[in-house]
Amino acid sequence: MTITTNLATVTTQILEFEHQYFRPPNSVFLLAVSKGQPISAIQEAITAGQFAFGENYLQEALLKIATLNNPNLEWHFIGPIQSNKTKKIAEHFQWAHTIDNEKIAQRLNDQRPAALAPLNICIQVNTSNEASKSGVTPDALWPLVDYCATLPRLRLRGLMCIPAPKNTFNEQRQECQKLHDLFKNISESRFVLDTLSMGMSDDLEAAIAEGATLVRVGAAIFGPRK
Ligand SMILES: *Cc1c(COP(=O)(O)O)cnc(C)c1O
Repeated sequence: MTITTNLATVTTQILEFEHQYFRPPNSVFLLAVSKGQPISAIQEAITAGQFAFGENYLQEALLKIATLNNPNLEWHFIGPIQSNKTKKIAEHFQWAHTIDNEKIAQRLNDQRPAALAPLNICIQVNTSNEASKSGVTPDALWPLVDYCATLPRLRLRGLMCIPAPKNTFNEQRQECQKLHDLFKNISESRFVLDTLSMGMSDDLEAAIAEGATLVRVGAAIFGPRK
């Protein structure tokens, strides 16, 4: 029952951080990141009441989605997206968090099946300016927001980042603040966004302090990945 206990602990932490940083109760959504975890682990989380899961690797995710075959689950793609993956992502996921160029956005839009609601998307921003990371630079973000907003089969919900790891809480907060500032600027002047996807097991508090509305938590729920 470790996963059940961990989920309860993380849920309590989120509520405490919401309170501590003057965030409304239940304003932070918990995405359970199940990459590298067996189906049995996801099943335990479902039994404990979790319904939203994040996956990074397409083949692994498609197998889990098909095996669980549960229409009440919500699947979020959070890994890098290459062109050859867009069709399956458009067909099998409710969310994609890692859009970082027009071509991928357009393919997802064109390949989203008509029978499904528009695909919820976040634009990934490379806030730490790390050459190795995916994500648009803050300068390239604004044109991509405008572009995505024109695509009828996508629903632009917000911004996502994977900040560079930092050792102190204050440094983590500074990293998260960069995305929060961009989110505020866009929401106030360009396009209403409702999702700020940031915060993982190690920077959960900093992310909630800086306005995260969706945290992506793996290890703190499921333990180490295989
Ligand atoms: C793996 C992963 C997570 C979860 O990380 P943990 O440290 O296990 O909480 C969150 N977001 C993304 C994009 C990931 O790849």
